[in-house]
Amino acid sequence: MANSFICLDIGGSKILGAVMNENNEILCRVKRKTKPELGREAVDDRIKKVIHELMSTYGMDKKDLKAIGVGAPGVIDTRSGRIHFAPNLPWKDHDIGRIMEEEFQVPFVVGNDVNVGVLGEWKYGAAKGYSHVIGIFVGTGIGGGIIIDGKLFTGSGFSGAEIGHMIINTEGPLCNCGQRGCLEAYSSKIAITRELRAGIDMNIPTVLEDILTEKVGVIKSSDLKKAVHLGDQLAVSTLQRAAYYLAAGVGNLINIFNPQIVILGGGVVEALEEEVLTLVKSYINRFAWPDMLSQTRIKAARLRDDAVLYGARALITETLGY
Ligand SMILES: [Zn+2]
Repeated sequence: MANSFICLDIGGSKILGAVMNENNEILCRVKRKTKPELGREAVDDRIKKVIHELMSTYGMDKKDLKAIGVGAPGVIDTRSGRIHFAPNLPWKDHDIGRIMEEEFQVPFVVGNDVNVGVLGEWKYGAAKGYSHVIGIFVGTGIGGGIIIDGKLFTGSGFSGAEIGHMIINTEGPLCNCGQRGCLEAYSSKIAITRELRAGIDMNIPTVLEDILTEKVGVIKSSDLKKAVHLGDQLAVSTLQRAAYYLAAGVGNLINIFNPQIVILGGGVVEALEEEVLTLVKSYINRFAWPDMLSQTRIKAARLRDDAVLYGARALITETLGY
């Protein structure tokens, strides 16, 4: 049991935790609600509880724990372990690294969850072996990460790689970030839901009508999948539109970064992997330079819900060397 690591994926609704070993295998898992409404100290306590629970469930001695790695939402200074800002958590200029290191007496490394997820896919998933990688996750919003020449790119202030907020159309629909025409405002589940609702308002028949009329919030990826597989015209054309703009975003990134591989993940891609990849590949010629496109593979992500956990393990290796 020597040299064990605890890896966490902290989100606005749940904390996923795992014990991992030197061979990067997941040995034991714990899942708890985050409960951000309870405030900062309560969330910190819940995180500590998850770590203690992982140690006791796995029967780990304190001396066997070598480091804790974490992916969490927000702008995070990976060097100091300080969270500048997190959108769905009660964290502002929060020195989580110091607090956790005091409690557990081991190094605590933390990075932005989407960046960390791409790190996971790069080290242990679909982008293994490449050194120029772009990762895009299409879910409720759109997040991404960039590996340049074998290094995770975070920008000068740890806010870089906001791929979802690349502006595709200056006069486009309003995005959650306050700008107009971001990729997220075209290809995310928020955008897909808005388009489907617009279709229903125009009396276009769809099997999704009841689901979307009854429920607020974004459509579930599984419902979208069902409708597309049934050949529902509104669902199919909405997916095509989202994939078209996603291809524009991917094309821009290929032209700027000349990556070896672009990986696409997140709920929408997981549910409709074949459809999304086929559509993006069919549209991408319009946006990417042929020469660079011919050097780039476009593939689906592989680690799914475990990407951030594996990425947290990779962050430990990248930062601490073990
Ligand atoms: Zn935006």
